[in-house]
Amino acid sequence: ACTADTLAAALRAAAAVIAEHRAELVDLDRAIGDADHGENMDRGFTAIVSALDTATPETPAAVAKLAATTLISKVGGAAGPLYGTAFLRASVKLGDAAEVDGPLLVEALRAALEGVQARGKAVGGDATMVDALIPALSAAEEASGSDVAAILAAAADAADKGAESTVDLVPRKGRASYLGERAKGHMDPGARSTALLLRAFAEAAK
Ligand code: ADP
Ligand code: MG
Ligand code: MG
Repeated sequence: ACTADTLAAALRAAAAVIAEHRAELVDLDRAIGDADHGENMDRGFTAIVSALDTATPETPAAVAKLAATTLISKVGGAAGPLYGTAFLRASVKLGDAAEVDGPLLVEALRAALEGVQARGKAVGGDATMVDALIPALSAAEEASGSDVAAILAAAADAADKGAESTVDLVPRKGRASYLGERAKGHMDPGARSTALLLRAFAEAAK
């Protein structure tokens, strides 16, 4: 099961992965957007690590809430508020639980996806982070009888495929939608960052 400490460690691991992939995310966003997704994500997750260095949230929900408020306040652009909303909704779902087990993790993931969709209005096929999150949630639901690490591994695998699927889509939300058909042939940067985050969480949960 996942405690406040293991969730904090997972966020630190995610920050390292985002930093490693910063240039890749910038390049993806350069092709169909404004070339800042890697910077935005790196700024946000670096700020989460700083926040974790000074505060010691006592529950998984409090850790998720700290991540949410940091992303919302530190990251401009579309992705910051969307990821912030995802962590905020997950935090509410986690309640006062001291440990997150498989079923609660699945509920938190569902709440995160619903938050992103409530805020951004994207549906599956719009070529956004939602195209990584929807298959990730489905895979997590299918694996919900397993432990947290196995659920996250299944979700990360599905998110990778979902991110891959955005290459063939015409973006209908966010900056990339301004390009229309010309944006086809490129992976959505936010779908890629979602897949990276889920992979980092899965590795940290091992
Ligand atoms: P900006 O587009 O403001 O520069 P980023 O580059 O950080 O912000 O993030 C872009 C990513 O945000 C996109 O690749 C996409 O995945 C995601 N995104 C943008 N708009 C939406 C939306 N309405 N719903 C879901 N995701 C979105
Ligand atoms: Mg951008
Ligand atoms: Mg921008």
